[in-house]
Amino acid sequence: MTKAVYPGTFDPVTNGHLDIAIRAAKLFDQLIIGVYDRPAKNLLFPTDERVALWKDAISDISNIKVESYNMLTVEFAKNINAQVIVRGLRMSSDFEGEFEMALMNKQIRPELESIFLMANLKFQFLSSSLLKEVAQLGGSVDKLVPPNVLKALKAKLNVS
Ligand code: ADP
Repeated sequence: MTKAVYPGTFDPVTNGHLDIAIRAAKLFDQLIIGVYDRPAKNLLFPTDERVALWKDAISDISNIKVESYNMLTVEFAKNINAQVIVRGLRMSSDFEGEFEMALMNKQIRPELESIFLMANLKFQFLSSSLLKEVAQLGGSVDKLVPPNVLKALKAKLNVS
């Protein structure tokens, strides 16, 4: 059985993330979304909410599961028997950082492969941080996140 992990902060999950997960789930028998518990980032949503939002958003896809983790991604992948790490690549912003991370992970655990799916053209400009900024200022983000995330964002930010 081929199993892949799609790790990230997902604060919150966007349609860009969802697009990567749906495509990756077609390539592997099982996809585990790994929600990283303690990123060096200011979080809007605590881990349990980031997990719950993902679960709601992919509830109709049977071969995707969502778990949180608080260790090295390569360790998490080993614990759940995943052979592959999946990441999304946006046009200009992601390549260097992802390349560095993939090489580091390869150093730690050579048998684990990293694969990268090109971000959908529609979501190239989309990041969770920009999304939160726009939403906070009352901009429309309804085409950028799943409906459950839109609802949670509005409630969290106290905007209509
Ligand atoms: P991290 O803190 O690990 O970078 P993110 O939640 O920001 O976590 O992103 C998780 C993964 O999703 C990364 O591989 C990132 O490049 C990818 N990603 C982020 N935004 C998009 C998008 N709009 N389209 C496709 N992939 C994306």
